[in-house]
Amino acid sequence: MKNKPIIIIGAGISGLTLGLALLKKNINVQIFEKEKEIEQRGAGINISPNGSSILYNLGLEEKINSLACKPKNIELRNFNNGLLLARQNLNNSCEKKFKYPFFQAQRKDVINILFDEINKINSEIIFFGYELKEFEEKKDHVSIKFNNNDKIEGSLIIGCDGINSKVGEVLNPTATSKFSNIIAWRGVIKMEDLSEKVRSLPPTIWMGNEKHFVHYPIRKNNLLNFIGTARKDVWLGQSWHQFGNKEDLKKDFGNVNSTVEEIIENIDKPNKWGLFDIKFIKNWVSRRAVIIGDAAHPMSPSYGQGGNSAMEDAIILSRLISEHNYSKNNLLYFQKFREKRIKKLQKSSLRNLKIFHIKNPILKFIIHSGLYILNKIIPLILIQSSWIYKFNAFKVGIK
Ligand SMILES: Cc1cc2nc3c(=O)[nH]c(=O)nc-3n(C[C@H](O)[C@H](O)[C@H](O)COP(=O)(O)OP(=O)(O)OC[C@H]3O[C@@H](n4cnc5c(N)ncnc54)[C@H](O)[C@@H]3O)c2cc1C
Repeated sequence: MKNKPIIIIGAGISGLTLGLALLKKNINVQIFEKEKEIEQRGAGINISPNGSSILYNLGLEEKINSLACKPKNIELRNFNNGLLLARQNLNNSCEKKFKYPFFQAQRKDVINILFDEINKINSEIIFFGYELKEFEEKKDHVSIKFNNNDKIEGSLIIGCDGINSKVGEVLNPTATSKFSNIIAWRGVIKMEDLSEKVRSLPPTIWMGNEKHFVHYPIRKNNLLNFIGTARKDVWLGQSWHQFGNKEDLKKDFGNVNSTVEEIIENIDKPNKWGLFDIKFIKNWVSRRAVIIGDAAHPMSPSYGQGGNSAMEDAIILSRLISEHNYSKNNLLYFQKFREKRIKKLQKSSLRNLKIFHIKNPILKFIIHSGLYILNKIIPLILIQSSWIYKFNAFKVGIK
């Protein structure tokens, strides 16, 4: 049993972070990904200090610094009239307070950095075109089948297979997901295609009526990433991710805000994601199986913490496996250790979404005025996010 590898399903953010952390501890691990190649989707990601501390401690400081942006400020504005509600300092303050920076990066850059680092250590442990079909937990191993009919045996299976996880489905056969009536539009635009006015804007969150629009530079200011969330009655199709078209995107964000209009006008092919209702998934572990990241706890993207918390899971689990072992008790400990923080993150993300989307004019006036006044007095975002950003997955005491 000792010789059988730990099997990771999914080469996304959580799977690659976990794979790299285990490899660095000389643990026998293999990663199986259903796609034919590593993810190349154009989209941005916020890596807050709780995530950048992980990348730095995995030895990736130089690489991430060479590709990502470290925003100085972030602004919150009223979508309809452009009024500045808050301008908060991010870096400098972040690095001073939490020791690690806040990055905004191209998602595929982060994934490629992790992928390359794994390949540098061992180029024979990631397998593409392997979609998990089923697995069976035996007394001393787990037997795994893929859609291409290959079979393998491992000592443990770790589901890093994202939302609609196959491993999660086996651990939680009755769990269902429900469309939340919110979609997220996403896209990346070449900075050179935008006007000087838009190019010079800091990362901005435009808060509208039942919608919000976020944009920030990535790739050393060569690209601009945007995310826009809006309400929708139905989500058609099996996949939570689809290509959309510019006309529908325009319909969702109208011609109210000239910055948003200009960004939309310059997008080539927007992507859209259906956001699904986030009920807490009850079982993250069984005897020889465990789920982490979106597979265990999908969350609304409005705090930018899904990927960061997936990396936290990966490091905590890798430490438990290497410093202790993967008995069922330790796996249960993993779930218990993570649950409280994750539930709080999920709640905080939903709260942000509600604030960003407020429609009621009186409530909106109160919230926007509160933001405006508080912003003048305190570094609101950093204070509010301190409990998230200060978490260091490599240092936090476990067991
Ligand atoms: C609009 C939007 C904006 C976001 N912004 C941020 C942000 O700024 N910061 C942040 O931290 N998070 C953000 N997130 C969330 C973040 O993208 C996710 O939380 C993160 O990608 C989860 O990583 P993961 O590894 O758990 O899952 P994924 O990244 O989904 O990876 C899962 C992998 O498993 C593979 N897979 C799936 N099923 C199988 C199978 N059966 N067999 C084999 N392989 C399989 C998939 O192909 C994929 O490669 C955002 C999300 C959205 C929708």
